[in-house]
Amino acid sequence: MEKFILSIDQGTTSTRAILFDKEGKPRYHAVRAIECLYPKPGWVEQNALQLFISVNDVINEVLILANITMNEIECIGITNQRETTIIWDKEGKPVYNAIVWQSRQSQKICDRYKDKEELIHEKTGLRINPYFSASKIRFILDKIPHGQERAEKGELLFGTVDSWIIYKLTKGKTHATDLSNASRTMLLNLETADYDEELLKLFNIPRCMLPEIKASSDDYGEATFLDSNVHITGVAGDQQAALFGQTCYEVGESKNTYGTGCFMLMNIGDKVVLSKKGLLTTVAWKIKDKITYALEGSVFIGGAVIQWLRDELDIIHEAKESEEYANKVDSSDGVYVVPAFVGLGTPHWDNDVRGTIFGLTRGTNKYHLVRACLESIAYQSKDVIEVMKKEAKLKLKNLKVDGGATANNYLLQFQSDILGCNVDVPNCLETTALGACYLAGLYTGYWKNISEIKEAHSYQKTFSPKKGKLEADKLYNGWKMAIKATKVFKVE
Ligand code: ADP
Repeated sequence: MEKFILSIDQGTTSTRAILFDKEGKPRYHAVRAIECLYPKPGWVEQNALQLFISVNDVINEVLILANITMNEIECIGITNQRETTIIWDKEGKPVYNAIVWQSRQSQKICDRYKDKEELIHEKTGLRINPYFSASKIRFILDKIPHGQERAEKGELLFGTVDSWIIYKLTKGKTHATDLSNASRTMLLNLETADYDEELLKLFNIPRCMLPEIKASSDDYGEATFLDSNVHITGVAGDQQAALFGQTCYEVGESKNTYGTGCFMLMNIGDKVVLSKKGLLTTVAWKIKDKITYALEGSVFIGGAVIQWLRDELDIIHEAKESEEYANKVDSSDGVYVVPAFVGLGTPHWDNDVRGTIFGLTRGTNKYHLVRACLESIAYQSKDVIEVMKKEAKLKLKNLKVDGGATANNYLLQFQSDILGCNVDVPNCLETTALGACYLAGLYTGYWKNISEIKEAHSYQKTFSPKKGKLEADKLYNGWKMAIKATKVFKVE
């Protein structure tokens, strides 16, 4: 009997269940959209029970689609939107909505800890920000009646979405999280791989409400579904799961997700590297006793610049047309678009700049502009990678890519050209779910080791550099000048 691995990917906008086979191929797939609530400007919440209902729904649907029972499931992997915070009572009832990672509602709480910025960064690898769970926990405990008192008495449990799903699927038997998710709470000490007493005191969060920290490939107990029991054996936060799903197992291997923005992670091995240029340091995963760390950076406007061409400028009608347009000209003819629509992120960190276009001539046409927009995605990604390389003192081995904009061959070829390394596109673009699947299968022996996973993992395309280093450097130098000039023009 063929056995599948059930991977559950609980994201910000949807919940998916995918059944993977031994070759790492997604065979069956079910999705539910997730609703966000916006109780006040800047606040983003979700109904925690709805999240769990969506998990049940997709499991049900995928089993029906495959026409199998839970007996044909080898094990379960879970990956999740990170940092989103849920607190529930001993009966498994949430005491407040899930506060979503994007939500700014705990900004004021974070402001109180401004003078602890360095301490927090040194211990957690993160920057004090409402994104991370600590201030969200504080927010809920302050908001609900007797929150602090109940938490201290052990009546309340905290978890990120992974813990919440595990708790519900195991009928309250397991209250646990994996180290990659724990590293996003802003309560984890990266060196000790445990919650940090000083930080717990600082945020006044009782340890007894926190989930046990386990390895990412580990036994989380039995999920009970339709009277059958299957072990949950793989858990990781979404970006880390994608790094694992992209098989970036060696130091220097990196993945970039080209979505609305770009999300980049680099495997930096077993030593913590703290960034001075605004990158985050995070746990990539823990397997057996071995912890692997990663540097993380993001680009605010990635594929969104293509949406801008389509929706605001009306130059293209659909995103995929951008490739055809870019190929209509031999070069961008010296045009640089810096899409700093919301300021510049890593490594420039400037909120007060706005987008710019340089190098226009009487001969500039829409094709040059589209090409320059695609190139801006690649340049911004290179900016992040350059900082990663420098700070981690590593060479970039290759770049594994995923996300919607990887459909664009021009973008990926250009990315390979200016990075001077191979850019690999995997066959399965559901890399997040695949990562959770690999972690789960590794624990049960479905795959013996990561070499076996690497063998099973397959690619649809590899882009190799076609431009020489001189030409690539010249283009990149132009970009650096454009960034410099962009920084001069500030909004009021
Ligand atoms: P997200 O998960 O952030 O919603 P997706 O991974 O679904 O994003 O990717 C959507 C983004 O990719 C959009 O910003 C869109 O403009 C861009 N995109 C989609 N297809 C192409 C394409 N062929 N060329 C360039 N950009 C594209």
